[in-house]
Amino acid sequence: MVDYHLHTKRCCHADGTMEEYLAVAENKGLKEIGFADHFPLELIGYKPRSPVTMRADELDDYIDDVQKIKLMSANIEVKLGVEVDYLPGKERKIEELLERYNLDYVIGSVHFLNGWDFTHPSYADHYKNMNLDSIYQQYFALVKSAINSGLFDYIGHIDIVKKFGYQPEMNLTSIYEELALLLKRSGVGLELNTAGKDAPVGQFYPSPALLKAALSEGVHISLGSDAHSPQQVARYFPDAQAYLTGLGCLEISSYNRRIRKSVVF
Ligand code: ZN
Ligand code: FE
Ligand code: FE
Ligand code: ZN
Repeated sequence: MVDYHLHTKRCCHADGTMEEYLAVAENKGLKEIGFADHFPLELIGYKPRSPVTMRADELDDYIDDVQKIKLMSANIEVKLGVEVDYLPGKERKIEELLERYNLDYVIGSVHFLNGWDFTHPSYADHYKNMNLDSIYQQYFALVKSAINSGLFDYIGHIDIVKKFGYQPEMNLTSIYEELALLLKRSGVGLELNTAGKDAPVGQFYPSPALLKAALSEGVHISLGSDAHSPQQVARYFPDAQAYLTGLGCLEISSYNRRIRKSVVF
């Protein structure tokens, strides 16, 4: 099994050392892990209300630390990834930044809607003041732009707008079908992110209907726990595996220098 979504304390909302993450991964019998810490928003030219990524001056150390762990790790392959915020209008900047580093993979995530960090618990009350259909529409429009940008290997927690359990009135089927087609056409993958199970919504990202739509188009799937502490490495992975195999998906993605291959569980 592979866990490609591990954070580190540099992002200001995670804890544990990289060695501790690796140790838990070894205990759980993983074959491969990837660190994908939050890419510095400062470099992209965006200032969130609360710091949620590493600082620009920490990026080189982050990369060095992952390289060191790669060499240190005897039993598990370690990959260098990043989780990058998709911000409309910043595409060229992000492209230019990502070219500078020898990354194994890049996860594209949407965490901001018009400056609102809608995945942050401190700002979750804002859902109550907003039209939920409109939030969902705006969110998925950004996800579509993220897919079309060509910047990312796969999309992280693609329906994280459900995180706090606020459901829209609108039916999402046509959006799911559109997303599945776009992913297929662009060759961008989709992450099964198990963190949602520990969020108020209590379910994986994506929901079964969206995952099914993507799988029926043959979209490639990546697996990640979005661990923000070592104990969260590979959280709910037996359930995730059952979930995927139940839908006929027997392979997940592995990346090396941004080249994808499929591996069995
Ligand atoms: Zn985070
Ligand atoms: Fe994220
Ligand atoms: Fe994450
Ligand atoms: Zn995440």
